[in-house]
Amino acid sequence: MDDADRATECEEAARAALERRIAASRGHEPKPTRSHCQDCGAALEVHRLMYGLCLACAERAETRQRLWGHA
Ligand SMILES: [Zn+2]
Repeated sequence: MDDADRATECEEAARAALERRIAASRGHEPKPTRSHCQDCGAALEVHRLMYGLCLACAERAETRQRLWGHA
């Protein structure tokens, strides 16, 4: 192994370490979850998770839609 090989190996190890750090930091980032209503921030019931809105906000949105006749 010559110096160039060692340099490349070192570079790759550094890059792999960096990628692991990036992946780790991504894993700890607060992800945009829908565990809370995106409107009022109330904790969502499990069956509301897919909507991202609590029932009160969903009903409000529905009422707005009915009033305005569009989404
Ligand atoms: Zn809400």
